[in-house]
Amino acid sequence: MKPFKMASREYRETDTLIEIKTTAQPVVIGEGHCTIIAGPCAVENQESYIEMAKFLQAVGVHILRGGLFKPRTSPYSFKGLGGPGIDIIQEARRVTGLPVATEIMDVRDLDLLYENTDILQVGSRNMQNFSLLQEMGKVDKPILLKRGLSATIEEWLLAAEYILNGGNEKVILCERGIRTFEPYTRNTADIGAIPLIKHLSHLPIIVDPSHATGKWYMVAPVARAAIAAGADGIMVEVHQDPDKALSDGKQSLTPDNFRKMVKEIKDLARLGQKQVGGYYNGKST
Ligand code: PEP
Ligand code: MN
Repeated sequence: MKPFKMASREYRETDTLIEIKTTAQPVVIGEGHCTIIAGPCAVENQESYIEMAKFLQAVGVHILRGGLFKPRTSPYSFKGLGGPGIDIIQEARRVTGLPVATEIMDVRDLDLLYENTDILQVGSRNMQNFSLLQEMGKVDKPILLKRGLSATIEEWLLAAEYILNGGNEKVILCERGIRTFEPYTRNTADIGAIPLIKHLSHLPIIVDPSHATGKWYMVAPVARAAIAAGADGIMVEVHQDPDKALSDGKQSLTPDNFRKMVKEIKDLARLGQKQVGGYYNGKST
């Protein structure tokens, strides 16, 4: 067997589908579905987040994103609203009925985030935080596991293995670019990782073209490439006024550009005979 066991195709031939129940229709992530996750890099304040959440819902996004606990390279950068921002996420879930994904950096925040969010994101910088991964293995919520900044595919699947082996089978892999010798882009989007993961593993894989490129004008093309290469969805950063964003403005799409991209992605997904949003009843939006 491969070093990663429960994550491998040998262990499970059929693709893992992860269903997220909401007050609206359930969302499915996995092979044959195309799921769109979007929102600002960080939740900045109630007014802008709720306005954005309503816009994203109207455009047909399936899951909201928004960081409260932000892993920032510099300790002087905006590190998110932290725990007090949880009410804003709660309100967005209530108003839209959509599920929310947010990053967990520290197990001490698990109770707060478990109660109030639908998907727990393990960020790139924590992909090999093995104690965090072990805790995620004990949780009965989907875990969005981002690829480490310089992680090989095997290291990434072994990180997923920690969660699976701990008893949580709901792992969603997220390719977000890797660090290479190229300084023009924030990271190098590894499109080839998509068919490779599909070959090696039964787990769903989505792509984050925002962090993979660092440049807003590269986001839609790389998102299209990801879907064309077989990704099960995308996660994209959107901001009302990217120039004023407290984090990652350079890679954030304006609402107008995001709307255009969503149409392209949905057209491509239908071309590839994927269920958009992956609703079980065959009706997708
Ligand atoms: C994020 O998605 O908010 C994020 C910090 O991304 P990454 O962990 O991929 O850098
Ligand atoms: Mn970001």
